[in-house]
Amino acid sequence: MTKLPYDADDRRAVKPVICYPVDSLPQPDMALYTSARKTLTKIDEVIAAPRMAATFHVPAGHFFRITSVEGSQVGDLNLWNANDLTERFYSGKTRALHGTHITTGQSMWSSFPGLRPMATVTHDTLAWYGIDEFGGSVHDVIGTRCDPYTHNLLNGGQYHHCCHSNLTRAVATHLDIPVIIAEPHVHDVLNVFMCTGFTRDTGQYFMKASPVRPGDFIEFFAEIDLLGALSACPGGDCSSEHSSDTAACYPLMIEVFAPAADALKAWQSPARNGYDGTHGV
Ligand SMILES: [Zn+2]
Repeated sequence: MTKLPYDADDRRAVKPVICYPVDSLPQPDMALYTSARKTLTKIDEVIAAPRMAATFHVPAGHFFRITSVEGSQVGDLNLWNANDLTERFYSGKTRALHGTHITTGQSMWSSFPGLRPMATVTHDTLAWYGIDEFGGSVHDVIGTRCDPYTHNLLNGGQYHHCCHSNLTRAVATHLDIPVIIAEPHVHDVLNVFMCTGFTRDTGQYFMKASPVRPGDFIEFFAEIDLLGALSACPGGDCSSEHSSDTAACYPLMIEVFAPAADALKAWQSPARNGYDGTHGV
């Protein structure tokens, strides 16, 4: 144990400040997106089967929607710039900017040096959930993805249908490359529909049964050309465990929509970040 300083209470009483105030963050034009989403035509549909992942393309300026279809189910989402796979979703910076969970009006940001919005949430039927009495909320950017390495570390054995492996197989199939080449493309996810938080007493990452029900969806506007991959997590609703075949597991539906041709005349795809990349050299 460490020695309690005489002013411990005073130090603890210092009020926190927000690390990244978002007042100066470029804001998405939600009024424009809201009017555009009234003009949508469905152009594609993909199903992520239980304990499997599916890939999909969304052109910039289009929308995509992830829907719970048969039962309460969590999904692990990866996004890449479809024209440059080195630019991909940056969970940690999205968390730093928007907090531990995202909802309507917030964006999924890309990795350095791009650091720009990749997709903006335009509708979330679980927005009503808010933050529960345990500090839990939905659609987190704090979990990484269930993976066979952590499973092996904690439980031993070889389990091949964690989201990490599902995403790896889907990327390998999509790009027609071996899994060993595909695996490094897989990155920390947006945990779609997953209900998570940190325990107040120990600060540990927790999950609880997702409040998602068939018909619920989260919808995004593609700010750039996107390649996406979505895994239907083996944890199902993630009420108990997430790296085995014991949980009831359901498919997830991904739909891609085109807005009317003139609906986004006032919109421009965001440019890559403006930092010059010289790092003082
Ligand atoms: Zn998972």
